This record gives sequence, C-alpha cells and structure tokens, in this order.
Amino acid sequence: MSKEALTASRMACWTLCQRKHLFAYDRGVRKIESGDALVFGTAWHKAQEVYYGTGAEMRRREGVTTADMAQTMFEAALATAENWDEFTVAKLQACIAAFVEHYADDDIIAEMKPEVEFAYPIEGTRTFEARGKIDGLATLADGRTALVEHKTTSESVDVESPYWTRLRFNPQLCRYVLGARALGVECETVIYDVFRKPAISPKDAVKDLDENGLPIVLDANGDRCIKRDGTPKKSADATKGETYKTHAETPDEYAERLRADIMERPEFYFARREVTVTDAQLEAFMLQERMMAGQIVDARANGRDAVKRGLPYEAAFMMNVGKMTCDTCDYAPFCLAGQKLDAKKPPQGFAVVGATPELENK
Ligand code: SF4
Repeated sequence: MSKEALTASRMACWTLCQRKHLFAYDRGVRKIESGDALVFGTAWHKAQEVYYGTGAEMRRREGVTTADMAQTMFEAALATAENWDEFTVAKLQACIAAFVEHYADDDIIAEMKPEVEFAYPIEGTRTFEARGKIDGLATLADGRTALVEHKTTSESVDVESPYWTRLRFNPQLCRYVLGARALGVECETVIYDVFRKPAISPKDAVKDLDENGLPIVLDANGDRCIKRDGTPKKSADATKGETYKTHAETPDEYAERLRADIMERPEFYFARREVTVTDAQLEAFMLQERMMAGQIVDARANGRDAVKRGLPYEAAFMMNVGKMTCDTCDYAPFCLAGQKLDAKKPPQGFAVVGATPELENK
C-alpha cells in the first residue's frame, strides 16, 4: 500500500492546528477559491519553472529577445489562473517582464533543473513518507551545487528584514536538502530567490496628453486653457477652477508604470540570499518528522477510540484557537460555529481535492 505524503506544508499545518490538519489533509477538503496571494504565487512559480526549464534552451537560441522570453513565461503563468481581472493580469505581465530584464545577465545561477520531485522514507512509520517538490537544483556560476527556492512575499526583502531571519528556520529548507540527498545530490548551499509583490494599485485618474505630449488643462467650462501667446497652458490653477483632462489608468498603462518602477529600484523587489543548513539542523528535523508522523497516527487511533466512547472523532484533534490562527483560517466559519465537516457534503465554496494538492500545484 502506498504511503501518505508528509509534505512540508502538511507539517506546518499540523504544527499550526491539528483540527485544521484534519480538515485539510485527512479529509482533503479545501476552499475552492484561493486567496490572491496564493494564486499570484502559483503563477509566479510557473513563470520561474518555464524560465529555468524550457526557457533555458529558448534563451540560447539566436534571435530570441527578452520580450519573447517574457511572453512565453507570461502565457504559461496565466494558464494557472482563473477569473483574474485585467489589472491582476497586467501586474503579472509587468512583473515577469521586469524579472526577465533584471536577470538577463544572471551571474549567480548558471543552470537549473526546475520542479524536482523527491520522496524518502521516514524512520519509524509505515504510514508516512517524506515527499515534496524542490523549486530548482542548480549549478551556480562559481561551480557549486545549490538548492533554489523561489518565494513571493509582501514583506520587505531588505537585508535587515525579519523575513530573512524567519526564512532561515523554515522547515522546508531541511526537507528539501534531505530530498535532494535522497536523489543523490549533495547541495553545497541553498539560495532563496525572493520577489516582493508590488503593492502599487491602478490610478483612478492619469493625465491625458495631447499629440505633443503635453497635459491638457481645462477651464471651469471644460474648454482647453490657451495662453495669450496662443500656446496651451501646461499647469492647472485650482483656484480658477482649472483641472487636468484625465482618464482612468488602463491595464497597459498600469503594467508599464509597474514595470518601470521595478526596473528603477530592483533591490526593492528582487533579492537572493544564501542560507546554510547544518547537520545538526537536519538531525533535529528528522526527529521532528518521526515525532509528527507518530502524533498523527496516535491522534487517529484516539479519534476511533473517542467514537467508541460516544465522543466525536474530531475530539482527538486539538483546536488551536487564537486570533493569529483562526482569523486567517478558511475553516473558521464552520469550525468556530461548532459544525462538523462532512467530506461527502463539503460546505459551499469547498471541495474535496485530496490530501496534498501542493504536490500538484506548488
Ligand atoms: S478555525 Fe481555528 S481552531 Fe478551527 S481549524 Fe481553523 S485554526 Fe483551527
């Protein structure tokens, strides 16, 4: 019988809230509409996969421009999304175009094999095995072998940002280094390749420009203001009721403004940092894998025992009720209302998607 996958996300979920783990992983019920952040992250991962996968060969081909590369990535990334509004599409397009321009002369990653799946046994359990998907196994420009993780974030990626401190202790790191070892690859370093998602929104009003590229100033009657010398006025005087002729920013204008902003201050958006993983960290992580596999098996046994004693099965899966955990939890509307989750009849907006969709859509 095939073993269940204990992915890094599953471990994080069990650590966060056992009841949430029961809903998401044991019952396999997930909210259908993912949040924007998750959807953008999925599209971004797809773009990276194309860039370092089929795109690597494409970039070596004569006559292929950065615009061609960006368009190929954009089309693949867009195929992962559904029902995106045109400004979110424009944002994705701008970010990908800026990425390709920024890394056109990449002097860190020489070659990379993207989306590498792995599995390895976890000692002491017949129920679970460790599984996952590494974003990339790379050869760096200096010849070292590296594990590469692509991340998107809303946080600052400055050197001083706490984002990096937390990332160093992300259990995914140990899992992926062990996963690479299971594939016979000894990683000399880990590179976090991070993109800060733009927070710039489309503008309600941008100035219309005439054929000479000049703003159009209107008087209180809506007529263009012309100076005594016959030339058009360039700046509006609000005290005289003058305004600029404007229109709502179009998706194309928004995409161009965003791309220009990313290219103007790339260090605000792009960051790559090397992280070291010690043998002591790996040993501790393997201990935690064993413990967690045992805890889940024990909770299931306790759940069956609870049913025999007239208690609900769920009683064996502890709830971690708190603002930090429940406020962002998809299951809160029925979990906190004390309602049961019947996987045969998932609540509206939820579907049974299986235990580890993250292995299909990272
Ligand atoms: S609402 Fe809170 S207690 Fe319930 S599953 Fe979510 S995190 Fe756990």
